[in-house]
Amino acid sequence: MLIACDFIVVGAGIAGAAAAANLVRYGSVLLVEMEDQPGYHSTGRSAALFSAAYGNDTIRALTQASRATFYDPPEGFCATSLVHPRNVLLLAREGQADDLQQLIEATDAVEPLQTISPNEANALCPIVRPDRIIGAALGRATADIEVHELHQAYLRQFKSGGGGIVLSRRVLDLSPEPGGWRVQTNKGEIRAGIVINAAGAWAGEIGCLAGASDIGMRQLKRTACLVAAPDGESIDKWPMVVNVNEEFYLKPDAGKLLLSPADETQSIPCDVQADELDIAIAIDRVEQATTLKVRRVEHRWAGLRSFVPDSSPVVGFDPIAKGFFWLAALGGYGIQTAPALGKIAASLAAGREVDSAIHDFDVNLHAISPGRTYGDFLSEHRIGVSRALHEE
Ligand SMILES: Cc1cc2nc3c(=O)[nH]c(=O)nc-3n(C[C@H](O)[C@H](O)[C@H](O)COP(=O)(O)OP(=O)(O)OC[C@H]3O[C@@H](n4cnc5c(N)ncnc54)[C@H](O)[C@@H]3O)c2cc1C
Repeated sequence: MLIACDFIVVGAGIAGAAAAANLVRYGSVLLVEMEDQPGYHSTGRSAALFSAAYGNDTIRALTQASRATFYDPPEGFCATSLVHPRNVLLLAREGQADDLQQLIEATDAVEPLQTISPNEANALCPIVRPDRIIGAALGRATADIEVHELHQAYLRQFKSGGGGIVLSRRVLDLSPEPGGWRVQTNKGEIRAGIVINAAGAWAGEIGCLAGASDIGMRQLKRTACLVAAPDGESIDKWPMVVNVNEEFYLKPDAGKLLLSPADETQSIPCDVQADELDIAIAIDRVEQATTLKVRRVEHRWAGLRSFVPDSSPVVGFDPIAKGFFWLAALGGYGIQTAPALGKIAASLAAGREVDSAIHDFDVNLHAISPGRTYGDFLSEHRIGVSRALHEE
């Protein structure tokens, strides 16, 4: 049987779910997910942090525009709180004093960081070794995100608005046809007016199937593991501890400590797994900076963070493939920016004005548009085609 809808959203991670939940008011929407559960890939593997200081100016604006959903969600949206306070403690080791100062200055407008001494850092997190750091700063406007609850809230909103979701259904091919697209999946064909590409690490591949622009996306692996808290320590109120140049981070997580080497190894889109070496690097860097002694790793995982060269997301209609919409390259910020990105994507895909509340946060739509310049990543041929289309 041929299914037909106004919008097909490929990928039911946080991006696809947030966009779909906002799109249902504008037409019929089908959310298509290749796994048998939504959130299996990057969305289910994050460090779950909300930080307004993280990322470039575009990310910071999108995060601010998302803040209200986390801290003051609409009535009936979620079953539990979406955020819990979690301070962030930034540590600078020898040679990183300037980096710390630059970060403090760069983030002053969005999330003032308080400079503290190494001993004060140790008082906040007793495993931090004051003799191993030359400076520290504390951010208080950060929080742990209940990622599962946020994701489920969007899926509930989507379904109650009349949206349909199909799992274990992989998009295999896309062909343009008058008025939209024919979408070939492993379980039959779907006809859709507009394709929303929210396929996470696979977004580049979906773009290729549609003959869309090459946005120059790369997938970078990030590894994490859970280890036991030090004996006798109550860690729940500890801040997240991050090296100022992101050489490692650690964070309380349901009574355990989450450790990451903050690695960025390029990968193909896949069900990425943690390497022993990256786990060993995480442990070594944490043990250098703290008194923690890791005896056993209780759980390990890795996930893919997708980036284009300017590290901003790609949201909007493709300049070449008509009716093909990008919602991709959410980097390491896809959870904290999902509320704003979901609204923006739905409005743009439906040809509506973007909510004026989004503009209040100085979100620059050009800075996230697929048509922005990607330098060497757009081939001469593709730039030629794109220009020709614009000039028509
Ligand atoms: C270790 C780690 C820590 C992170 N920490 C944070 C953090 O603290 N804060 C933050 O905001 N962000 C963080 N992130 C980033 C965040 O997890 C991502 O930006 C976000 O999850 C991306 O969501 P997505 O929906 O684009 O991708 P995904 O969650 O990967 O969803 C894409 C979906 O598309 C589906 N799909 C792909 N191809 C097809 C196809 N052909 N047909 C059908 N379905 C398809 C996939 O199965 C997948 O479910 C972190 C990421 C990692 C890995």
